[in-house]
Amino acid sequence: MLIIIGTTIKEKVREQHGSGKICPFCGEKTNLIDLKQYLTLFFIPVFPFKNIGYYYSCPSCNYKTELTKYEN
Ligand SMILES: [Zn+2]
Repeated sequence: MLIIIGTTIKEKVREQHGSGKICPFCGEKTNLIDLKQYLTLFFIPVFPFKNIGYYYSCPSCNYKTELTKYEN
């Protein structure tokens, strides 16, 4: 039987409108987005095994901060 294993990077909203960081352009509360690397089985993400970093994203004007990477 052939098993296809891989990895993929997914974005996950950790705190919606509650990150405490205000968008510098429109004043909305931003979302805190986590970037995680997932193990995939047959191209379906099964579980996260590595935290890559996070950034803030504004839901109303799509402003995004730069990715802050976690130290490994
Ligand atoms: Zn904004």
